[in-house]
Amino acid sequence: MILSLKIKLHPTKEQEQLMWQSAGVSRYIYNWGLALKKQKYEEENINLSISDLRKELTQFKKTSGFAWLNTPSADGGREALRDLGDAYKKFFKKQGGYPKFKKKGKCETSFYHDPRKLKVNDDYVYLEKIGLVKMSDEGRLPKGNYKKDKIKVTNPRIKHNGRYWILTLGIEVKDEPVELTNVSLGIDVGVKDLAVCSDGQVFKNINKLRTIKKLEKRLKRLQRQVSRKYEMNKQDNKFVKTKNNIKLERQIKLIHLRLRNIRNNHLHQATNKIVKTKPSRLVIEDLNISGMMKNRHLSKAVQQQKLYEFRRQLEYKTKKYGIELVLADRWYPSSKTCSSCGTIKSDLKLKDRVFKCNCCGLEMNRDYNASINLSKYNQ
Ligand SMILES: [Zn+2]
Repeated sequence: MILSLKIKLHPTKEQEQLMWQSAGVSRYIYNWGLALKKQKYEEENINLSISDLRKELTQFKKTSGFAWLNTPSADGGREALRDLGDAYKKFFKKQGGYPKFKKKGKCETSFYHDPRKLKVNDDYVYLEKIGLVKMSDEGRLPKGNYKKDKIKVTNPRIKHNGRYWILTLGIEVKDEPVELTNVSLGIDVGVKDLAVCSDGQVFKNINKLRTIKKLEKRLKRLQRQVSRKYEMNKQDNKFVKTKNNIKLERQIKLIHLRLRNIRNNHLHQATNKIVKTKPSRLVIEDLNISGMMKNRHLSKAVQQQKLYEFRRQLEYKTKKYGIELVLADRWYPSSKTCSSCGTIKSDLKLKDRVFKCNCCGLEMNRDYNASINLSKYNQ
């Protein structure tokens, strides 16, 4: 299985400068290749292949005298041309439009790094021509000299996500056999709490946290400000982008990014904790998420909780551990059934937070009761 990693980098000012330059050169070479390919085709009806372009690039580096073309990691330019080749392939397979020139600020800021030239120790990663860059990592990246120790990673790229630099790469992990318990774990996924498990674990709805609420409020205020400013600066029915608006939009982007990170981290923490209890079986409701999205009140909560993403993470993490993931039929009455005696309480309402059984007298948190029922699904 290929695991994709994202690692936050903490470059110094000088290193960051080199990173911006490297990304700029990659973009330049991509555009240069695209322009040359177009020109050769239009003027001489010659279809340059990517290896032709690479030869041309070597020549161009010599004749142009642009020393800065060698700024990025040696393979950066070659890879920019490979990306161009991929863009053409997509176009010919009708999966994408004709390749376009990359504009600064409009396209992803990134550059490629030769995987064999990576070296990693505890907190630093060595990047060619940039040096030892400090990184945030919890030991996910294998340590060593990647060429000498024959550590294989795929497609390492250094990207700027609008706020900070990250290293992304793919890494082959062996599916290690994990000793599982014979527990069947039920998970009730919901709007009030993110997840309530039949073993008693509860994962909160992170959107009720004050930090999130504050960020959401700020976001709304900024969005209103932007649209007001657009209206104000409208000229002959055309919207004009002012410096101020660009600044506001940047702030909005950063808040979105922060919210996304907080939410994703929370989901990863929850799903990690769940699979690490090593149940042999995990049962969740086959949520009718698209149905919930139609409900105006629920849709925002579902969107914010990222229930799709929660399920996606459980899918690949259970696969990694060899845990069976069972989707309970959405008509299975997990909420309305008494987990103790099995009586179905048909008059249970959505607002009833406590399940009270009229038959055996059980009183239990509604979601916890549901998760126990899920754990017994088809058993
Ligand atoms: Zn009962």
